[in-house]
Amino acid sequence: MKKIVAWKSLPEDVLAYLQQHAEVVQVDPAQHDAFVAALKDADGGIGSSVKITSAMLEGANRLKALSTISVGFDQFDVADLTRRGIVLAHTPDVLTESTADTVFSLILASARRVVELAEWVKAGQWKQSLGPAHFGVDVQGKTLGIVGMGRIGGAVARRAALGFNMKVLYTNRSANAQAEQAYGARRVELAELLATADFVCLQVPLTPETKHMIGAAQLKSMKKSAILINASRGATVDEQALIEALQNGTIHGAGLDVFETEPLPADSPLLKMANVVALPHIGSATHETRHAMARNAAENLVAVLEGTLATNIVNREVLKT
Ligand code: NAP
Repeated sequence: MKKIVAWKSLPEDVLAYLQQHAEVVQVDPAQHDAFVAALKDADGGIGSSVKITSAMLEGANRLKALSTISVGFDQFDVADLTRRGIVLAHTPDVLTESTADTVFSLILASARRVVELAEWVKAGQWKQSLGPAHFGVDVQGKTLGIVGMGRIGGAVARRAALGFNMKVLYTNRSANAQAEQAYGARRVELAELLATADFVCLQVPLTPETKHMIGAAQLKSMKKSAILINASRGATVDEQALIEALQNGTIHGAGLDVFETEPLPADSPLLKMANVVALPHIGSATHETRHAMARNAAENLVAVLEGTLATNIVNREVLKT
């Protein structure tokens, strides 16, 4: 019987599905040595939110497949997996809409100061009708700049263009014809997007090219009134530069779901800023979506082990060798 290592707890029905196909060993990734030992004679692995290094896979000679319960795969050294002949599968699509909802909640919350003012009400501060000191800024009709118009970027563009009458600009290495036709999105250079957008929304994967793609110079080129939204990965933004830009009034505010270090350290200056909405990486975190992701990842894993997976493969070249 095949052996699967799970480094994330799985919904009961998903675990039962995997057990129909293999022996499933659940490990606590914090117990590093036991985790690595379990991988040594495993055929497959499933989990998320843990960096899987090359060293952890030394001697794991039976391993044929790793299945991440996420669309992003920056926790893996893909080239190393490919060299080892290990297929990496991921879960695009099933999380697109709920993550786009999170992005939009960050846009609305940042612009309308929803979190800050809700806390103000709960603190008993609402004693008279409000004046300009508590006003936010409009979302509808503004310009949204999406850096990375892929699946999630497209779902954000749909909400923006069709729901909020926003103008949509985007950058990508290749054009997204669907977003251009359906949402009137216009592909521009990053410099134009940064200089024009009222909301700059990052939805690129974290790669060597996108790491710190928004730093001090990019923040300086944004409008003073602009709001930065990041629900991609923390390291696409130079967080220290962002902190300084927010402190200096270089930009107006930020809505952040992801950070360079997660969980966000308690002494982060971001936690003290009224113009920052900080979420604990909840992009896809609904009951329905997280369940669908676990199910999808389990099905991907079984299909790789059975040699039938046709989609959701990150390193398709492994199958050609
Ligand atoms: P996707 O469909 O692959 O979209 C990514 C987009 O980024 C593509 O349009 C791609 O277009 C563009 N891109 C890639 N490299 C680029 C570069 N160097 N410069 C400019 N654009 C670049 O992926 P997705 O499903 O939308 O997911 C996007 C990312 O969101 C994931 O990788 C993950 O890190 C993050 N995410 C976060 C959460 C959360 O909980 N906060 C949840 C889900 C996903 P080109 O290839 O044409 O450049």
